[in-house]
Parts: sequence; C-alpha cells; structure tokens
Amino acid sequence: MKKQEILGLSDPAQCCGCGACAVACPVNAITMVAKDLGAYYPEVNMDRCVSCGKCQKVCVFQSEEEHSDAPLRVYAAANADRQQLKGSASGGVFAALAKSVIAEGGIVYGCSMEYTHGVLTPMHIGIDTEAALTKLQGSKYVQSKAFHCFPEVKTHLQSGRVVFFSGTPCQVAALKCYLRETNTERLFAADLVCHGTPGTVLFEDYIARLKKRQNGDITAFSFRDKSSGWGLLAGYQVQDKNGREKQTLLRPDCSSYYSLFLSSETYRESCYSCPWANTARVGDVTLGDYWGIENEHPEYLTENGGKLSAAAGISVLLVNSEQGKTLLKRFGSGLVLEASNLESASRQNTQLRKPSSHTALREELVRCYETEGYPGVEKLFRKKQGLRYCVRRIKNLFLNWKNKRRYE
Ligand SMILES: Cc1cc2nc3c(=O)[nH]c(=O)nc-3n(C[C@H](O)[C@H](O)[C@H](O)COP(=O)(O)OP(=O)(O)OC[C@H]3O[C@@H](n4cnc5c(N)ncnc54)[C@H](O)[C@@H]3O)c2cc1C
Repeated sequence: MKKQEILGLSDPAQCCGCGACAVACPVNAITMVAKDLGAYYPEVNMDRCVSCGKCQKVCVFQSEEEHSDAPLRVYAAANADRQQLKGSASGGVFAALAKSVIAEGGIVYGCSMEYTHGVLTPMHIGIDTEAALTKLQGSKYVQSKAFHCFPEVKTHLQSGRVVFFSGTPCQVAALKCYLRETNTERLFAADLVCHGTPGTVLFEDYIARLKKRQNGDITAFSFRDKSSGWGLLAGYQVQDKNGREKQTLLRPDCSSYYSLFLSSETYRESCYSCPWANTARVGDVTLGDYWGIENEHPEYLTENGGKLSAAAGISVLLVNSEQGKTLLKRFGSGLVLEASNLESASRQNTQLRKPSSHTALREELVRCYETEGYPGVEKLFRKKQGLRYCVRRIKNLFLNWKNKRRYE
C-alpha cells in the first residue's frame, strides 16, 4: 500500500491536519504541507519511511477514542475577574481555569497569535506565568499549529506536572491519541465548541494583503474585540514605518476572511463532516459562547438581578468527565457558575448538534485561490457582495470615527 494511502490521504475529509503523525514519525519522514485553501496536510517522504505504522497509531481518524456520551453538567458561566473577562472572547472561563492551574505550578497550552518577522501566525504555546496568559486569550478563527507541543506535553506529564491543554476538539482528540501510552492523570483538556477552521496559510495570505493595503505591518489581529460589548466585532493593529501603532475596528461583513469564515465557506474539508460536532465530547470540559442566553435564562442576567452580564460575555461550559469535575473543583474558584441544560445551551449553538456546511461558493473560492491567490478570493467576495460591500465599508469608517472620538 502506498504511504499516502496509509495515512488516509486519498480522502482529505479524513485528515484534520493535527500533525500527530508528523511528530510521531521516528525518522522525520512526514512534513505538513499547505494544500486546499491553505490548510495543512501531511506529506510522506517515501525514501525515508520505514513502514513502522506509528503514524497510523496516532491518527484520530484511524483509531478508537474515548469520549463522553453526554455532558455530566451544563453551566452558563463567566470569569469573576472583570479585566480577564474583557480580554476573553466569551465568558473568560478559559482564563479563570488557566490562572489557577498556573498558580499551582502547572503549565497551560493554548493558541497564541504569534508575531514574528512581520508575520502573524496562530500557534499553540505553553505558558506558566499569569503575565503570559493574555497571549492565549481570545478566539483565533484559523487553524492553529499545535502538533509541535505534543512531545512537550508528554514530557511535562511524565515529570508529574499538571498540564491544562485547550484547543479545537480535533486537536484535543489528537493529543489524547498521541498520549495513549502515557499516564494522563494530571492532564486536563478543554475543547471548544467549533464552527470549523480555515487553513493557516489562507489567514497569513489575508494578513499579507491587509498589510499591503494599510501600508504598514499588521502586528495584532483580534477576532473578538469587546470594545463595543460581547459580539463578533474584530480589530487589528497597524504599525507604520515610524513605529507608530494604530488600532482599527473591523465589522465582520467588511472583511472577506472573517465573513467567509462566519458563512462556513473556507474551512478545511474535514470540518464539514467533523465527528466531534455533537454532544459526545472529547475534552474533559467544553467551552463555547452561550448564544441565546437572554431567551434561555433571562433570570441569570444582571439587568434582571442575576450575576452574569451579556454585555461582558457569557460562556457555555460543559463538564464531560470525572476529570472535568476535578478541574472545576480544583481550579474553578474564579468562576461564576449558573446551572443550565444541554437543550438550552445547544439551541442557538448549531455546532453542538452537527458540523457546518458550505454552499457551491466554496468550490469557486478553492479555484480562485489556486489560480490567483488571496487577491482572487477577495475579488470573488466583493463581486458577490456587490453594492452592499460599499455600504458596509462606509459603516465601518463611521464605526472607527465614533470609536476615535470616544477616546479623544
Ligand atoms: C475556530 C474556532 C471556532 C469556534 N466556533 C464556535 C462556535 O461555533 N460556537 C461557540 O459557541 N464557540 C465557538 N468557538 C469558541 C469561542 O469562540 C471561545 O473560544 C470559547 O467560548 C472560549 O472562550 P473563553 O472566553 O472562555 O476564552 P478565550 O480566552 O476567549 O479563549 C481562548 C481559548 O481558545 C483557544 N483558541 C483560540 N483560538 C484557537 C484556535 N485557532 N485553535 C485552537 N484553540 C484556540 C485558546 O487556546 C484558549 O483556550 C470557536 C473557537 C474557535 C477558535
């Protein structure tokens, strides 16, 4: 059998790009290479491969994994620390748990938007100081490179350290697969409710285009800017040639990348048949936005005398395993928790019920990206938007003008 087939690569829907195969390979025969819409897939160097089968053993699509049948507990939750809550995408549950893990000497892994040599790249890093926590806060709506952390996590667990790992469900499943023969008593894993992830290189190309249009370096990009409250507003920072920095707010419908992300057109192929987009979760806890809380639990909201603020952000928190219960008991003191149920939590959160789906536009996008690169994607996006795009741009200019006046 050809090695590419061994890895299931004849079907891109059977590869989530986790890269566990690449780090498990004892002879470095596997490299992750960007393909369809800038998403990474493993490529095997046939001359190096020794047919040991380790890549198959760690592949989440080729092995049985453990997951819960249904959550043991469901909460509407938020971080009690206002500052941390503000820097988080939704209710800041991640930061509250991570802070306590660090305080007890543990190490936390999550996705950071790293700016190196003029390029912004989302990648997983490990941190063990509270000061570094802000790097991991906030949702980066793009596939994060996480596999290089797997051996590090293993080493920490072997040395008896507590590890709190957070990521998309496929990354958590991949890590658990990779650690199958390791003692994971001290591993706590949080998976995210996940809409799907566009390829890393597609995002890098989008940023390169933005950089050109703004005539400066894009040194930071936040998909969930809370300056106007809990929602989907984005923001980025431009640094000009003299080192001056400017913050710009971005409505999602004004950004080709963000808009196509929200309409589910640009994810990697496997996201459309994601085996984890349901209530049988792989993480010890699951974190998401509690969309629709105003209908499901109006009594929990501050305006009705409750403890949770919809303007500041509210999370849905699923506790999926005994280890998840321990995580909350040991490290959850910084959380405000209110009981909820699965039906309410998933009513407006489709990805707790089924994977995202795309339209015929995706095929057009793949073709344009292949032939013209990101400018082709942008051109197609604007063509489809027509006049609406101009109106939205004007609204975005107004938004930034209003925001600037607020701070003058
Ligand atoms: C690609 C993606 C799609 C999502 N889709 C949905 C959805 O459809 N519905 C929903 O309710 N919630 C979704 N979320 C989750 C949501 O946006 C928040 O991340 C989640 O509610 C946790 O928020 P928080 O306030 O607790 O922590 P925050 O501080 O906002 O979250 C940071 C956490 O997210 C992780 N993270 C951020 N970006 C990535 C990434 N690219 N890859 C892996 N991990 C990452 C960090 O490691 C950290 O654990 C998605 C997140 C991502 C990254």
